[in-house]
Amino acid sequence: MNAPLAPGFVNGDVSYWYRATGVPDPGAPLGGNIRADVAIVGAGYTGLWTAYYLKKADPALRIVVLEKEFAGFGASGRNGGWLAGLLPGSARRYAKDHGQQAAIRFQREMFGAVDEVIRVAATEGIDAGIVKGGLLNVARTPAQAARLRAEIVDQRAWGWTPGDVDLLGTREMTARIRVAGAVAASWSPHCARVQPAELARGLARAVRDLGVEIYERTPVTEIARGRAVTPGGTVEAGLVLRCTEGFTADVAGHHRDWLPMNSSMIVTEPLDDWDEIGWDGRELLGDTAHYYMYAQRTADDRIAFGGRGRPYLYASRLDDRGHTHDWTVDALWHLLTTFFPAAKQAKVAHAWSGVLGVPRDWCATVSLDRATGLGWAGGYTGHGVAAANLAGRTLADLALGRDSDLTTLPWVDRRVRRWEPEPLRWLGVHAMYRLYRLADAREATGTPRTSVLARIADMITGH
Ligand SMILES: Cc1cc2nc3c(=O)[nH]c(=O)nc-3n(C[C@H](O)[C@H](O)[C@H](O)COP(=O)(O)OP(=O)(O)OC[C@H]3O[C@@H](n4cnc5c(N)ncnc54)[C@H](O)[C@@H]3O)c2cc1C
Repeated sequence: MNAPLAPGFVNGDVSYWYRATGVPDPGAPLGGNIRADVAIVGAGYTGLWTAYYLKKADPALRIVVLEKEFAGFGASGRNGGWLAGLLPGSARRYAKDHGQQAAIRFQREMFGAVDEVIRVAATEGIDAGIVKGGLLNVARTPAQAARLRAEIVDQRAWGWTPGDVDLLGTREMTARIRVAGAVAASWSPHCARVQPAELARGLARAVRDLGVEIYERTPVTEIARGRAVTPGGTVEAGLVLRCTEGFTADVAGHHRDWLPMNSSMIVTEPLDDWDEIGWDGRELLGDTAHYYMYAQRTADDRIAFGGRGRPYLYASRLDDRGHTHDWTVDALWHLLTTFFPAAKQAKVAHAWSGVLGVPRDWCATVSLDRATGLGWAGGYTGHGVAAANLAGRTLADLALGRDSDLTTLPWVDRRVRRWEPEPLRWLGVHAMYRLYRLADAREATGTPRTSVLARIADMITGH
């Protein structure tokens, strides 16, 4: 590895977000057969938010959450901490079946989800280092800048007002974060920084306090009408809700539903000197490269910086506890120090990876089949932190049989075709990311146009 590693550098161990407190000791597994009203599989944000809103709405319900490791083991305990009001998918695609107004309503609900998470965190006493500093998206080449401007024009058609997103002048941009080589930036207020694992941990505590049972070290081996089967016993329940996002490929019968996409992160040591960088507003930082990055300034003054790494493992294999390849750590460090040369004063303290779920059409779904009692939500394609809250509220309404504004949103009950069998899946995803890297390299030469290679990449996988 070429990146400079801090003493005590950790690779994996779920994520940096557990470093201060230690990875939680999993609670007791399910030890026998039980009956419940609702069984939820997976204790990430989706499962926990669903349990939270269901139990709040009807405290008499017996709700059990079954988790193979511990609450927050998956992407919910590993992500970049962008609590962002971004649609989990393309507005255009959501509008196809339901019309433009429905897609715009969905977008407004996503903005609202950011505030709803902040509201519940305050009400439940969850200290997740939340700061609503907005989202700064930078462009570092003329082609990226052209895309950024075009994106804002497009967003106006999908309900984004100048108060929701706007182009910044150079002075406003550098007053926020000074990214080396940035030529343009947009800013949106609809994004907050969170410490992801603290949000998951706090949510799990709040859900337990309401009386929901969470069984950990409890892998569900079969999901069927009326039951969820685990090695220690079966839960018989009228409703069984699958909330396993990036892990769904391992659930029997769902291998090709959602592609498990890897995302990797590094975190630096604390930086003493922020003068050259700024970042006083704790904005979330992204860019408009095809092989994009995402970052936050953490509550303990580090830079947490993420990107794609090795995007996908053959046959939808999953990582275990977040171990990350040397190549990825080096690539992320290289990019981080290109953005922030001043960060060279620090070293890499931790690296980790996780999986998120990508449906074939890159748009998320919330569904409940009333005939079978089986439901599911996920496929947020990397925008799951806020979306899981909206999904949880929506799944709760569906489970309660309520017709609400949420149950008519365009992501409800979508049917999406499955991914191709291997080796097509692997070839497609790897070709896409290879072309994205080539397109970024071409655009770095200064051309003002988006590389045709990126368009070919989008065509290959329907991105
Ligand atoms: C590195 C990384 C960075 C990201 N950054 C961002 C970001 O900044 N902003 C954003 O919006 N999104 C981001 N995402 C995506 C976001 O974190 C996820 O979309 C979201 O957390 C999904 O929540 P979930 O509850 O649906 O899934 P998870 O959090 O993955 O939870 C699923 C749970 O199901 C459990 N499980 C799986 N199979 C079984 C089984 N058979 N039996 C029992 N339990 C099972 C798992 O152990 C896991 O705990 C990122 C993802 C990654 C990996």
